[in-house]
Amino acid sequence: MSVFFISDLHLEQNKPHLTKAFKNFIDSKVNLHDELFILGDFFEQWIGDDNEDDFIKSVKNILKDKTAKGLTVYFMHGNRDFLIGDKFCKEVGAILLDDPYIINLEEKKIMLMHGDSLCTDDEDYQNFRNLVRSKDWQEDFLSKDLKERKEVAKNLREISSLENQTKDENIMDVNQSEVLKIIENHSVDVLIHGHTHRPFIHDENGVPRMVLGDWGDFLWFIESSEGNLNLLKEKI
Ligand code: MN
Repeated sequence: MSVFFISDLHLEQNKPHLTKAFKNFIDSKVNLHDELFILGDFFEQWIGDDNEDDFIKSVKNILKDKTAKGLTVYFMHGNRDFLIGDKFCKEVGAILLDDPYIINLEEKKIMLMHGDSLCTDDEDYQNFRNLVRSKDWQEDFLSKDLKERKEVAKNLREISSLENQTKDENIMDVNQSEVLKIIENHSVDVLIHGHTHRPFIHDENGVPRMVLGDWGDFLWFIESSEGNLNLLKEKI
């Protein structure tokens, strides 16, 4: 059995090649008795489980088809699809995980995160994160009609991309002491996350921090097979 980890596919209607790459990945790499962990930003945006169009249906069908046949799929929220809820997960047969989440694999304690919570140098972003992850904000947002939610999401994206243009590159990466704190506090053997779009295996005082890449020119994944974790990529 293999365990796969992916993140930051950023699937969206306007990029059908990414949905195709995901279908191809899940069809050709992942066996039905394997496990698939999707560690956030699977979708470029998510404004509520009640929003559906042909694109969303097609992605749901890819997942549904596999989980119905026995594949175990786990979902973690990213900073773009944090509104994915129980309805979506139930429909596609996936299990929603908290961020962070610890699994045990081949006697290794592995911590899974999306990764945005590690970027503590970006104070504006952390404040924004605290706001939109609050129950009050989410209840208020989800009570709006779809048209209004789409407007709000569009504005938030525009503000964020404007802000990111002027931010120092380093501020948008993980904070080193936050990483070490997390690893030490939970005494994990491996940390896996995405979000930064900087795929690499870092050595954090002897603990590997495996960073998944975003999907674009390449698809990135981590495969665990017979006790080894490998960070791999393939041309899309
Ligand atoms: Mn992200």
